[in-house]
Amino acid sequence: MNEYDSNRIYDIVKKINYTKAKKLSDANCYVLNTCHIREKATDKVYHDVGRLKKEFKNRPKPIVVVTGCVAQAEGEVLLKKEKYIDAVIGPQSFHLINNTLQKIENQNKKINSTEFDVIDKFDTLNQIKTSNSDISTFLTIQEGCDKFCKFCVVPYTRGAEFSRSIDELKKECKDLVSNGVKEITLLGQNVNAYNHQEKKLSHLIDELSKINDLKRIRYTTSHPNDFSKDLIEIHKTSHKLMPMIHLPVQSGSNKILKAMNRKHTIEYYLELINKIKEANPLIRFSSDFIIGYPGETEKDFEDSLSLLEEVNFINCYSFVFSPRPGTPASLLTQVNYDLAQKRLAIFQKKVKEIKIKYRKKLFNKKSLVLFENKSEKNSNHYFGRDEYSNSVIVKTNENLKGKIKEVKILNGNHSTLFGEISKVDKEKVFAA
Ligand code: SF4
Repeated sequence: MNEYDSNRIYDIVKKINYTKAKKLSDANCYVLNTCHIREKATDKVYHDVGRLKKEFKNRPKPIVVVTGCVAQAEGEVLLKKEKYIDAVIGPQSFHLINNTLQKIENQNKKINSTEFDVIDKFDTLNQIKTSNSDISTFLTIQEGCDKFCKFCVVPYTRGAEFSRSIDELKKECKDLVSNGVKEITLLGQNVNAYNHQEKKLSHLIDELSKINDLKRIRYTTSHPNDFSKDLIEIHKTSHKLMPMIHLPVQSGSNKILKAMNRKHTIEYYLELINKIKEANPLIRFSSDFIIGYPGETEKDFEDSLSLLEEVNFINCYSFVFSPRPGTPASLLTQVNYDLAQKRLAIFQKKVKEIKIKYRKKLFNKKSLVLFENKSEKNSNHYFGRDEYSNSVIVKTNENLKGKIKEVKILNGNHSTLFGEISKVDKEKVFAA
């Protein structure tokens, strides 16, 4: 979502004649768009500002603005502790950035802009045409979350659930497609809770599918409890919706899920996976896991390992639990750090094994790849993604940008697949 926000921030500042600097050191204004999910996010801000101070030691000070969730969560502290920062702007206030920049230019004054005015934000953004022309890009459709998982800062930094209207999303999507975009990932902290005047995510997907030159649709991130029947159903019927679902589970243990306030059980999760697979057997899943959540025993950890095998996730993001200030879980007694790290290493090894096994099965098979750009290192290497978001590289001198081609996968590793364009190329959406 920060990538989407950064693009939109750029669309806004262009209005007051700010342009992207060619080199980082050439800029006279820095916007650090931050994420608070990862550990040490605030330290990273201080570190980056430190680098700027060094760079500008003998030059006029640039404007420094911190945006995003760190600004929301720790705004006042940042401004007090680091005088080099001129302003903090929360994720629901970045539409006000031009005003902020002009105030700094004129008055040299510190600004804290961390109101939750999500309606005003999108009203402003709707007036500004997106300039994004990446082949595959993001579109924020929903923000905030009402779930309050005990480890998560999102309900505090992004606020309550808010869904944008179908009409404004259709317009923004059409603008993106007219810029050359072919694939959209619909974004929301809790994307399948999308609900605008009783119109749900499935309805939005249906509407966006009608845009001719839009070839692929994805969405992320879903909560298992918001996976409604209509959403399962559309995976059966939509030819533009990709057969890959990111469905965070966080733990394989019911005891830990309860402690996290996830409000679902493993039995429910597995039943949901089965229902989705019944609707479309081509669908594969990826997930998120937190390892070493407070109270996690060896048995709980083993339950997470078993779930990996049972679902056969083709990708997983896993991290050791790290307490986020202000969340209920931050007050709990933590699992011994070394033990948690040891469990993470075991877990990630298993994830990699499953991934390599899955990828080997793709060798000598064909998949449909949407090509995005040439490789920076080799000008005759083209990069794209298959339906499951696997990175694929082919050798070619043809300009494949924005094209979907049938590719025979020759080999690969856990991060990239290598292939060749099939002799007979067909443009279809689902691979055999
Ligand atoms: S559902 Fe996701 S965004 Fe919402 S509180 Fe839980 S982890 Fe955070």
